[in-house]
Amino acid sequence: MNDLKRYLGFPADLSYRAQIEQNLTRHTYKMHTVFQLVILACQILMLFSISTLPGGPFVKPRRTAYFCMYMVLVLCTLLSLLTKALLKEKIMERYGLFSRMELAYIILICFWGTAVTLNDQLGGNGLNVFIYMSLLAAAVGLMKPWQSLLLFGGNFLLLNVLLPYFPDPYGADQSFNNMTNSFFISVLCIVISVTFYRNRVMSEYDSIIIKEQYDKIVDINKKLNQQVIRDHLTGLYNRNYLDTVLEKQFQNVRSERGNIACLMIDIDYFKQYNDKFGHMSGDQCLRAFAGFLEQEMQDRMGSLVRYGGEEFLLFLFDQDADDAIDLAEHMRSSVEAGDYLCAGADDRHITISIGLYRECPAGETSLDQFIVKADNALYEAKRQGRNCIRQI
Ligand code: GH3
Ligand code: MG
Ligand code: MG
Repeated sequence: MNDLKRYLGFPADLSYRAQIEQNLTRHTYKMHTVFQLVILACQILMLFSISTLPGGPFVKPRRTAYFCMYMVLVLCTLLSLLTKALLKEKIMERYGLFSRMELAYIILICFWGTAVTLNDQLGGNGLNVFIYMSLLAAAVGLMKPWQSLLLFGGNFLLLNVLLPYFPDPYGADQSFNNMTNSFFISVLCIVISVTFYRNRVMSEYDSIIIKEQYDKIVDINKKLNQQVIRDHLTGLYNRNYLDTVLEKQFQNVRSERGNIACLMIDIDYFKQYNDKFGHMSGDQCLRAFAGFLEQEMQDRMGSLVRYGGEEFLLFLFDQDADDAIDLAEHMRSSVEAGDYLCAGADDRHITISIGLYRECPAGETSLDQFIVKADNALYEAKRQGRNCIRQI
């Protein structure tokens, strides 16, 4: 019973229903518009041809009935096209109204086909219009299975209840033929309509799921890319960043002969710090120091990288010649004053040594050579007693 209920209702995950129906409405809107234009053109042609017949469209009741029915379909199609054109911008927010309008039109063409077929019977013609209008409705209509059952079942009953009142002009009894043919075509239409509906819903559902998964993958990729270029402890860029992004920035500035300064910053006697206060305090200190460096780099063009354990590399681009040395001295003295680190714990002060290399403007020196020179300058600073800046 539950399976049958699911088969006749919405086939996909119900939580996606609104989104799926919204998307389907947008797609069917376009498809229906094309069909409606074709129907409109055909009916106008029919109106024209019936009007040019000898005697005109109103010469006998049956022809008048055809004329009126073509007219009704032309007017309803025009009305539907106009309303849709006017509300086109609101298709996504008013998708419920749109789908009801489309369904109303599909119901109309089904019953219209029945009406024309009944009129055809009076001329001894068969069920052609009933058949092709039902098939058209099944192929282009977007109906839930229970709606298809009601529509095609109801249309079949209507046709067969009314057929005896529209007898064959030559006295032939076509009731058995008509009943079996219309029954067969109505069952076929229900199957086509249900299959199309389920396929359309499921393909929309699949594309939503694929899009969701794609977005998740993109998101995870972004996070992974960030993780790959970020240092886990301090959140600063790491050496992967140096080899990829920073290398490109460096090349750009160098090719435009801009100013480049490289600062290698190292915490003095950090091993002793760890030994004295423990590794956890050492980590905390590195994080706080990284935060301090980030603040110092704010509004400056350049990049900051955690180069090694307690070594940080700072590239400054397009700064005035003295900016780098001023910044280095400001950082050294601020750290020495201890304002930024371990507030209140006087005996936890650290000092830093800085090696500096700069070119204003940059020449042919490569990024690696900049680092080697700044490292050599740092070595000099260490050799000369630490807590100082040396420049090559
Ligand atoms: P110097 O003034 O010559 O630079 O002396 P130093 O003790 O700072 O230098 P050394 O190279 O001898 O020691 C570096 C220390 O940095 C050793 C290591 O335990 C510590 N260190 C490196 N990475 C980390 C880290 O991620 N967390 C902690 N807590 N300590 C680290
Ligand atoms: Mg050190
Ligand atoms: Mg070191």
